[in-house]
Amino acid sequence: MDLPRRFRWAILLLLPAIASLHGSFSIRAEEPAAVEDGKRAEPLFHDSHFHLSNYVHEGIDTSRLLELMDDEVGRVALFGIPLMQKWDYFVNGRRRPGYYLESDAEMYYYSFIDALIARQYLRLPEKERQRFDPFIVGFNPTDMNGKQHIENVLKTFPGVFVGIGEFSIHKELVSSKVAGHVASVKNPAVDEILDLAGDTGLLVILHCDINEMRAVGEEPAHAADLRELFARHPRTSIIHAHTGLGRFVGPTANHVALLDEMCRDHALDHVAFDISWDEVAKWVVKDEETVKAWADLINRHSTRFLFGTDAVAPKSQESYLKTYHDYDPLWKLLTPEASRAVRLGNYERLVDAARRKVRAWEAENLGDEDADEAPATIPIRPAEPARKAAGSGIAPSGLAEAGR
Ligand SMILES: [Zn+2]
Repeated sequence: MDLPRRFRWAILLLLPAIASLHGSFSIRAEEPAAVEDGKRAEPLFHDSHFHLSNYVHEGIDTSRLLELMDDEVGRVALFGIPLMQKWDYFVNGRRRPGYYLESDAEMYYYSFIDALIARQYLRLPEKERQRFDPFIVGFNPTDMNGKQHIENVLKTFPGVFVGIGEFSIHKELVSSKVAGHVASVKNPAVDEILDLAGDTGLLVILHCDINEMRAVGEEPAHAADLRELFARHPRTSIIHAHTGLGRFVGPTANHVALLDEMCRDHALDHVAFDISWDEVAKWVVKDEETVKAWADLINRHSTRFLFGTDAVAPKSQESYLKTYHDYDPLWKLLTPEASRAVRLGNYERLVDAARRKVRAWEAENLGDEDADEAPATIPIRPAEPARKAAGSGIAPSGLAEAGR
C-alpha cells in the first residue's frame, strides 16, 4: 500500500465523524459511492457479518481479506464459526467433510477458533487493524460456563475483541447436529451470556431462526420467545442475524410487519437486525412487492438495519461482493440516508460504541498481571505479503466458501 492511499483511508475512516459534526453529509442512493480517479470516495459498505474460516476452520488470512476488501469494503466484523464438523472415519471414511450438509457426523464447539482469529488480527500493523472488529464465538450457549470462556478470551487478548457471535441458537439442520443438549432461547445459559455482554459492552450477533423449517401456524415458532429474550437484556446491544430468516426458513406473510412492530417497541430499542446472507437477499428481492415492503420498512427504521455479506472465506472479490449486488433492487428504493445508514453508519455507531465500552471494561477489570502477559502488548510479526501467507494462520483451502 503506497502512502497517498493510506492517507486517503485515514480520511475515509474519519469522514463519518466529520459528517456528524456538520450534519450535512449525504450521497445519492442510486450512486452509493462515487468513483473518483478510479477510486471510491468512500467504501460501498462495512461488512457487519463475515466468517474468515469455515466449518473445519480453514479459510483465508487477513492479508488476503484486505486484498478482497480493497477500496470497496471499509471495515469488517471478523469471526470464525463456533462449530467444528467432526470428520468421523466410521461415517465418512477418507472423504473429509467441510460443511455441515456433507456428513451425518456431529459437530462440537471449537473454542480455539478465538485464538486463531485474535492471531489473524494481531499479525496486522496497527493501521490495518483499524479495519477489523473481531468477535468471540467459541463458547457453548447451552453451558452455564459459556460466559467464562468469553471472559477468558478478553483476559487473554485484551484490546482485540468488540463482540460475541455470530453464535447460533435455533438453526435449521445445524442445531440438532451439535453434540450435547440442543441450544434454546429458553436456556438460562443464554441469559448469562447476554448479561455478560451487557456488563462488558460486547456487541452481540445472534443467529436464531424465527421459525421451524416447516412453518407451524401463522406466527413464527420462535418469535415470541426471542422477543422476551431480547426484552430481558435492555443493556445489551444485540444484532439479530438475518432477521431470523435463512436458506430453509422463509418469511411468514407477517414477517415484515413483525419487524416493524419490534422496531416500534421501545422495550427493544437495543435490538438491530442484519440483512446478511444471499439466502436472505433471495427473500427480500423476490419480487417487486417484497422489495418495496422491505424498503418501506428500512426507510422507516433506518437506524435498525445493517448490511453484511455473511461470506465464508471468499475466493474472489466477485464472490465476496455477490450479496451486496443481490440487494441492488433494494439499494435503489432506499432513501440516501437510509442506504448510507444500512451500509455504513449503523456499523460505525454500534461497533464504535462496543469498541469504547469493551476497552473501558478491560481497563477497569483486567489487573496489571493480565496486562503484562497480554499478547496485544508484545511485538507482533507484521503480516507477510498475501502471496506468501498461505501457510501462516488460517490456511486457504479448497473447502472454503462452502456456505454458512
Ligand atoms: Zn453467518
